Amino acid sequence: DTAKPSHFLRHVIENDLQQGHYATRRWGGSPGDAAHHAQGMQDPARVRLRFPPEPNGYLHIGHAKSIWLNFELAREYGGVCHLRFDDTNPEKEEQEYVDAIRDAVRWMGYDVTLADDPAHPGQPSEHVYFASNYFDFMYRAAEYLIGAGLAYVDEQSAEQIRATRGDFNTPGTDSPYRNRTPEENLARFRAMRDGQLPDGAAVLRAKIDMASPNINMRDPALYRIRRATHHNTGDRWCIYPMYTFAHPIEDALEQITHSICTLEFEDQRPFYDWLLDRLAEGGLIASPHPRQYEFARLNVTHVITSKRRLRQLVEEGHVDGWDDPRMPTLAGLRRRGYTPEALKLFCERSGVTKSGGWIEYASLEAALRDTLDPIAPRAMAVLDPVRLVITDWDERMGAGFLDECTAPVHPHHPEMGKRSFKLGREVWIERTDYEDVQPKGFFRLFPGNKVRLKYGHVIECTGGTRDAGGKLVEVQARLVPDTKSGTPGADAIKVKGNITWVAAADAVPAELRLYERLFAAAQPGAGEVQEELNPNSLVVTQGYVEPALAQAATGSAFQFERHGYFVPDSRQGAGGRLVFNRAAGMKDSWGK
Ligand code: ATP
Ligand code: MG
Ligand code: MG
Repeated sequence: DTAKPSHFLRHVIENDLQQGHYATRRWGGSPGDAAHHAQGMQDPARVRLRFPPEPNGYLHIGHAKSIWLNFELAREYGGVCHLRFDDTNPEKEEQEYVDAIRDAVRWMGYDVTLADDPAHPGQPSEHVYFASNYFDFMYRAAEYLIGAGLAYVDEQSAEQIRATRGDFNTPGTDSPYRNRTPEENLARFRAMRDGQLPDGAAVLRAKIDMASPNINMRDPALYRIRRATHHNTGDRWCIYPMYTFAHPIEDALEQITHSICTLEFEDQRPFYDWLLDRLAEGGLIASPHPRQYEFARLNVTHVITSKRRLRQLVEEGHVDGWDDPRMPTLAGLRRRGYTPEALKLFCERSGVTKSGGWIEYASLEAALRDTLDPIAPRAMAVLDPVRLVITDWDERMGAGFLDECTAPVHPHHPEMGKRSFKLGREVWIERTDYEDVQPKGFFRLFPGNKVRLKYGHVIECTGGTRDAGGKLVEVQARLVPDTKSGTPGADAIKVKGNITWVAAADAVPAELRLYERLFAAAQPGAGEVQEELNPNSLVVTQGYVEPALAQAATGSAFQFERHGYFVPDSRQGAGGRLVFNRAAGMKDSWGK
């Protein structure tokens, strides 16, 4: 069914809700300490989803897809979505990342603090969970498996374990430690926990099937020894659960109904079910247990979506930090000028499917334009300024006279009001708006041609001055009287060119940072970073903007007429210098 591929997860959820699948959830045997975790989650019929980032870096556009998918589905079906930090890997995780991830999820518009959540009556109810809070339970689950003959301590070297796993064509071979008794295994596992074995000396493995066609079922590791300080549990543990063991347990303890992940976890699903089936049989978790569903990860052309590779860009100085506006991190996209609405629209348009592919970067920009165009206040800015002198201004208008001009804040929203700025004898115009000799199809400034200074008067170009090197330094024009926009007779003279400008008298100098795709390579990641980067991903210009923009608030996006969508940089320049970031041009011009 490819007609409406974005609905396959909805179908699953709707079907489960209809069947009342999760409403029947019961503890298998004696709930024991799991009851503690289940406490407060007395609404089993609810859809419970989760977004489970590992706090080992900043979230990126791919995570936005997952955040959007889980939180929106939860909202749609009256459920909840947990933000869960999958923090079982102490060496790579840091509080800085935990904080940045919380910020990013909140910024996306998903408040994980739900006042009306029955799960936590009378408590500050935050659906923020940490896998590391379940380490005790995970440890007991491991002991349960050992006792049931379903796990053993393997003291082969990592290399031996790898070598005996076999491959696609060859079954694995049993470890010499595989047939230890539960008592022996328990003693060795406790020795691991108590720090009696050095790092890497042993692992706890599930005892499943060394000949399974699915390599993930060939006695996967559940616990390893690692003396590392954990950001949450400190030095309490010297053994840590493996992700494949921890993740299903996290889902089960939080009574997640649908555990949505990306396709690369498809081969892990049999182990996910094996583990939760065993724990349910033992009465450690409730039944029915959560189920895993996979969808294709988001890949965007010209973008890298891997925290590890993004960290490399930061550490090697290819970008100016995690929130560099060229970074596909949520922090970078935000600073670039992306809004949560634009990202959500992009996620929705990119679809939810079972088959991977690359989404065009252009569609990310299109989502930004489509969300900003209807709401962004307009403004004029000159990016590459050259002075235009209206040589007869003083005699026609009076020396030093500044004429007040007005323009709508938004052409389709009169209720957004008007903006005003001055027109005087000297204005800044774009360098590219003047040519000595008219090129074909060019209707802007060249000697003898008339154009309108948008929202102002019509002028007639009389010439341009160049320096010894041929660089344009000034353009001259004469005023065409009685042509001011909005006055009677303004349209008596028809012109083909309408140019943007700001008056030298009231323009505000600003640094304009013109961002482009960080990678020139369409599918980066295959080659050397240095070769794949776009050398022109940032062009900085010193220009001028309309006077009202001196007060532009961080987070507000503007459409600079003709130039695209800009936001004040959230880290403004030194000495009060105004800095604007271009989020996207007016239209896609990549490669043109
Ligand atoms: P990375 O390799 O960038 O670290 P990850 O998958 O290891 O990515 P996690 O922190 O584990 O990062 O991801 C949290 C959630 O976000 C997971 O459920 C993961 O499947 C999802 N996710 C990560 N990248 C993408 C992507 N490109 N498209 C969709 N979902 C993604
Ligand atoms: Mg991961
Ligand atoms: Mg990762």
